[in-house]
Amino acid sequence: MADSPSLRRICVFCGSSSGARAEYADAARTVGRSLARRGIGLVYGGGSVGLMGIVADAALESGGEVIGVIPKALATRELAHWGLSDLRVVGSMHERKALMADLSDAFVALPGGLGTFEEFCEVVTWAQLGLHAKPCALVSIAGYFDGFLELLDRAVAEGFVRPAHRGLVIAGGEPEAVIDALLASRPTPSAAPPGGDPR
Ligand code: AMP
Repeated sequence: MADSPSLRRICVFCGSSSGARAEYADAARTVGRSLARRGIGLVYGGGSVGLMGIVADAALESGGEVIGVIPKALATRELAHWGLSDLRVVGSMHERKALMADLSDAFVALPGGLGTFEEFCEVVTWAQLGLHAKPCALVSIAGYFDGFLELLDRAVAEGFVRPAHRGLVIAGGEPEAVIDALLASRPTPSAAPPGGDPR
């Protein structure tokens, strides 16, 4: 059963590839199983490939709810996962991201490529603007996101990101601990909007 009634569904962004290390696939499996065990639904990009397919299959095999949201153009290229509890086929990437965000109460990124970076940065930017107050987390398997976290710190030091907005990014190396941190997090009231002097 759910550890927290406030997080019904978590959106997972992750690679459409499996990556070079077995730890990435292991982490995707752990996240899928853990969400199912906790009674939390999985929302993701609806693909059957890479870490996306692994996280979805793991959640399904453990009896979890899995909602995929995929644009028509990707679905017809036979990359969609047709075995999900619910597959929503939408018209565009923009519609997909908006629906994934609407369906979810929190966001997690596992290792991935440009699609994963873009999706995660977008939801953090929306939090920064106060468009939602849903927690956002990175699972930095094998230190995968270390360079990104350093870049965020540099952006704060260089006056481009407010410390409060840097604080919107939860990060950890262990999938279960990151999910626990999401469950423990409080919705972030809109910090001061970006712009002007970020200190
Ligand atoms: P990437 O990290 O570049 O592999 O892209 C993964 C992210 O982009 C996922 O979170 C998906 O939402 C989206 N995406 C990229 N490729 C696909 C695909 N073949 N099928 C479905 N979604 C995809």
